[in-house]
Amino acid sequence: MIEETQPKREPREVPPPLRRGVVVRGVVQGVGFRPFVYRLALEEGLAGFIGNDTDGVTIEVEGPAEQVESFLSRLRAEAPPLARIDSIAARELPATGEAGFRIVASEVLGRVSTGIPADAATCTDCLRELLDPADRRYRYPFLNCTNCGPRFTITRRIPYDRPQTSMARFKMCAACQAEYDDPLNRRFHAQPNACWECGPRVWLTGAEGAGLAAGDAVAAAINRLMAGEIVAIKGIGGFHLSVDATNESAVMRLRERKRRYGKPLAVMVRDLEAARGVCVLTAEEEALLTTSARPIVLARKRDGCGIADAVAPGIPWLGVYLPYAPLQHVLFADRRVRALVMTSANLSEEPIAIDNDEARARLGAIADVFLMHDREILQRCDDSVAAVVDGAPQLIRRARGFVPLGVELPPGLQLEAPPLLAVGGHLKNVFALARGRFVYQSQHLGDLENLTGLDFFNESLDHLMRTFEIEPEAVAHDLHPGYLSTGWAKEWAAARGLTPIAVQHHHAHVAGCMAEHGLAGEAIGLALDGTGYGADGRIWGGEVLISRLDGFERFAHIEYLPMPGGEAAIREPWRMAFAALRIAGLDLEPAAALVCASEREARVLDRMIERGVNAPLTSSCGRLFDAVAAVVLGRRVVDYEAQAAIELEGLAIDEPDEPGYEMELIGGDWERREPVRIGAGPLWRALIEDLRSGVKKARIAARFHAGVAAGFVKVAVLARAATGLEHVMLTGGCMHNRRLTRLLRAGLEKEGFKVFQHRLVSPGDGGLSYGQAVVAASILAKRR
Ligand SMILES: [Zn+2]
Ligand SMILES: [Zn+2]
Repeated sequence: MIEETQPKREPREVPPPLRRGVVVRGVVQGVGFRPFVYRLALEEGLAGFIGNDTDGVTIEVEGPAEQVESFLSRLRAEAPPLARIDSIAARELPATGEAGFRIVASEVLGRVSTGIPADAATCTDCLRELLDPADRRYRYPFLNCTNCGPRFTITRRIPYDRPQTSMARFKMCAACQAEYDDPLNRRFHAQPNACWECGPRVWLTGAEGAGLAAGDAVAAAINRLMAGEIVAIKGIGGFHLSVDATNESAVMRLRERKRRYGKPLAVMVRDLEAARGVCVLTAEEEALLTTSARPIVLARKRDGCGIADAVAPGIPWLGVYLPYAPLQHVLFADRRVRALVMTSANLSEEPIAIDNDEARARLGAIADVFLMHDREILQRCDDSVAAVVDGAPQLIRRARGFVPLGVELPPGLQLEAPPLLAVGGHLKNVFALARGRFVYQSQHLGDLENLTGLDFFNESLDHLMRTFEIEPEAVAHDLHPGYLSTGWAKEWAAARGLTPIAVQHHHAHVAGCMAEHGLAGEAIGLALDGTGYGADGRIWGGEVLISRLDGFERFAHIEYLPMPGGEAAIREPWRMAFAALRIAGLDLEPAAALVCASEREARVLDRMIERGVNAPLTSSCGRLFDAVAAVVLGRRVVDYEAQAAIELEGLAIDEPDEPGYEMELIGGDWERREPVRIGAGPLWRALIEDLRSGVKKARIAARFHAGVAAGFVKVAVLARAATGLEHVMLTGGCMHNRRLTRLLRAGLEKEGFKVFQHRLVSPGDGGLSYGQAVVAASILAKRR
């Protein structure tokens, strides 16, 4: 008989289990965080529970110390891709002897109010299934999981649950439901979960609504595209108008029908490899292209890349992006499809079309066919646009993929916002809601010039107020009395017995930049911009402000120039050029010749300038760029905003840095708060001299950029001497200009300044409402 020998064990002390209460803050709801934690707890052999709470998730875990520690460190390190962890706070709790780990219903932990995540591009797991003929979702245009898919654009109200989304009408089949219910499945509580069996469908139709293709609608749409036709494709945040981007005549036909001749069109390509084929990309640009927000990235176009010239005429950049919806991936799975123009389906600056009937009515005269689907888009949301400027990403249009993520007021700022609304500006409108430590910007809404724009504003405001359960108790607006948004804010405030807060345009820009970087004291702000209403009633835009969050003084500005014809001078930059040349001392005839104006035109303008009739004064930097572009490029009329300035920057793209033309500093007395004037007279005289002596235009463009940058660096040095301030904010729409931004930073740093730029919101008018919210919150905090 064999004796069972058991090793004699010392009676070991079993350490008592630990219990920890953990609160995680950030974007942790609707992004697969609970199943992730559930899996983690199972792997570590821990007991406890997780549930959504008001501002994030609450977790309790219990088990051996080592496993609890491991759990806590993996919580941050292995979080799901769409999660954004702002903080993890753990505290000790008495052990309860609980067994097993549970996901508890939200109600257990109280009111849930953390809004909705942003829309996210198809993840690699889903993409693999989409292209796998053996998978049950092979080529299914609406597959998604907790790591990807639409969120913001399909949600009516919170909480973000299927019945509150446009997926409510699709009842999940047994297979989908099983995935949805299984905490270990990638599709656990993936609200838009669907398949061929149970989910939305696509079809191809003409403008009259008759179905066109039986069978594979996507394949039929591809054939139409390859034949040069214009296809309206329903996407995530709205319809796109699409044509084969390598087909010159197809692109021209789209331009003619859309009545858009100059504005660059965005191009979608299959993958990063294909993007490298059409653009010369830096590592930063590649990173930006592949984020889950999948913005359009403005990058250097590759010569001879096969993209039609008509896509982005006159500039060396291309707006390129990658597929982010399964439907788009299915289009590109056909190897014939190399590059597609994918441009927002609208007429000029109208809101993007989202509804099937609306699309047919509005786009019937543009599109040849429509690739429709029956998942309703509940929130219009354009594609976002970004660029790498001076080595870091910059948002030009903040929309799909970023909205409605909040921008936190930095911890360094002891600033808490009461519930407030900032209505933004006039062009490229974006409004913002703020509460506590967060500012939530709306998607890009376009120009608020007409009722359609205002409807979109109202519709989005209602939605975002519901989403974050914010009832504003204060409202901020631009100082401009004529903006539609200003009138709206005043009425809105009056109806509630509130006093609206007016915020000067460029102060909002500078304060926004300060807040992004947690600067609460005073700083020097360079706000170089198109147009904004000034505190003196004139049109500002080339401003050096000594700024606090709640106020500012004007230290310097570009010397005022008349804008002959007012708004017309924006659309026709030759008018600005003529005015600038006359002010710089040129006689009528040579000035007229330089801007290709007839003698009659020149005389009419001259009278306007002389008498100050219909010739408002502006210190705008954007207008100065326009004027120089009109002379150097001979561009009389622009087809889209800032076109002349963008072309001027493009012209200089391969030029080495040159010493700049001189700008002169005139007057100014800080003690008496008299601003310095930055005069462009010497700059103009040197530029004309160069033109006459045949210096090549690219070099002239480079010298002009350098001159503007050097002029503002000189003023910053003066401002520092007067105030002792060393922090400089670079803000305003001109900061989209890479060359100008790079030269400004380099020049300022050489003088020992610390330079700050926007990273989370746009430096242009899309970022205005963020700045307005910051200023209003600071003013209100002071009053309390
Ligand atoms: Zn996925
Ligand atoms: Zn299904």
